[in-house]
Amino acid sequence: MRTAPTILHLDMDAFFAQAEQASKPSLRGKAVVVGGIGPRGVVATASYEARVFGVHSAMPTAQARRLAPHAAYLTPRGGFYRSISEQVMGLLRQLSPLVEPLSLDEAFVDLEAGGVAWDSASSRLVGVRLRAEIREVTGLTGSVGLAGSKMLAKIASEQAKPDGLVLIEPGTERALLGPMSVRTLPGVGPATGDHLRRAGIATVDEIVEAGEDELVRLLGKAHGHGVYAMALARDDRPVVAEREAKSVSVEDTYDVDIHDRTRIGLEVQRLAERCVRRLRGAHLSGRTIVLKVRRYDFSTLTRSETLRGPTDDVAVVREAAARLLDAVDTTGGVRLLGVGVSGLADYTQEDLFAQAAEAAAAADAAESAETAEVARIVRERAEGGQEAEADRPPGPEGAQPVERRWHPGHDVRHTAYGPGWVQGSGLGRVTVRFETPYSGPGRVRTFRVDDPDLEPAEPLPLVPEPSGGGEAVGRAHA
Ligand SMILES: [Mg+2]
Repeated sequence: MRTAPTILHLDMDAFFAQAEQASKPSLRGKAVVVGGIGPRGVVATASYEARVFGVHSAMPTAQARRLAPHAAYLTPRGGFYRSISEQVMGLLRQLSPLVEPLSLDEAFVDLEAGGVAWDSASSRLVGVRLRAEIREVTGLTGSVGLAGSKMLAKIASEQAKPDGLVLIEPGTERALLGPMSVRTLPGVGPATGDHLRRAGIATVDEIVEAGEDELVRLLGKAHGHGVYAMALARDDRPVVAEREAKSVSVEDTYDVDIHDRTRIGLEVQRLAERCVRRLRGAHLSGRTIVLKVRRYDFSTLTRSETLRGPTDDVAVVREAAARLLDAVDTTGGVRLLGVGVSGLADYTQEDLFAQAAEAAAAADAAESAETAEVARIVRERAEGGQEAEADRPPGPEGAQPVERRWHPGHDVRHTAYGPGWVQGSGLGRVTVRFETPYSGPGRVRTFRVDDPDLEPAEPLPLVPEPSGGGEAVGRAHA
């Protein structure tokens, strides 16, 4: 616990929904739900206007539709959110080398380590400026919490929402925490919360009154001591900078769930080959093979196997992935498969055989083209990009959809009417609203799904690029 509030927690406000409202003028001030829109989909983010109806993230979309039937239901644009996230994280890294992303839109920053703040006044100034910069660069709002520990910085940003800043003065933590629910404390999830409540402990003050011995008796030694320390606002967890690349992985989402076991096996083999190409392209090898399976009901399993030494051998990775798949029940179908390799090592640690194999692999131009992408994929892992993947269309090697799919919310361009977004489709028709982040609310037009004048497009940046270049938002889609 520091004596100055130099730990900053940033959390973008209703991130995906806010990005959609900024992109689509007709949705500003309206209820917007971003998530899986199919019968089994779940809500990723709801706009504040939709939360009024009780819609929240992780809720089944079907339930959200009953609560807010008139909201706009949009498929996530993962690449677009990631490109905004990169801009935000870039601003945070200008403040300090110690930036710890928790997800695409949330991170801790150690301001003291960056030398930009040392007391309440300087911390507040950094927070105010950061919020203004985020607004200027991304066009979106984020909330900032400042405190002497990670726990309290996160509580502060929660209190600041939406579009605010809260600084918790050191010395006031205990009084602030006291009346709060035990669930506020890190390490107290639903199960621990229930357990404590049955023992008559509902607030943080009641934990302190119960005493450390009682907490240890209720929760066990390690957990009890930890929760008791948090209740006293004793949180010395450091901000840990984003680590180096720890894994290389590839995955595909399928438009239609795959049921056929043989087909699933073939897809896994194909992903294993692609993963090894990326691994070699990045001059890496790894020890642990990871298989990821998202089933029809959105439950996601990961299974892994650790080898005796690092490998970049496609046969070894294929076999390991196949063994892992054998142990997974795919009854009901799968909607996403992924193969990854972690426990990475440089080729310098490898034997001469591996180096020779690497030299041969480097001759393949197609592989080297993927090298640049590896850094991005690894970063996505580190930033917990999974939440944005729900409905990403399959990659170029995907299951060759017979017809073009028009995902609600995704970007299109019409040769005559220009840029717009898919409002809905069905019965051979697709409706498109023609508007841009910089226009007023636009008009809706309907086309046949196979209209040759209509094609998918890259998202437009929320803040217009200065003339004469600048970074393209579409960059992240390369
Ligand atoms: Mg957020």
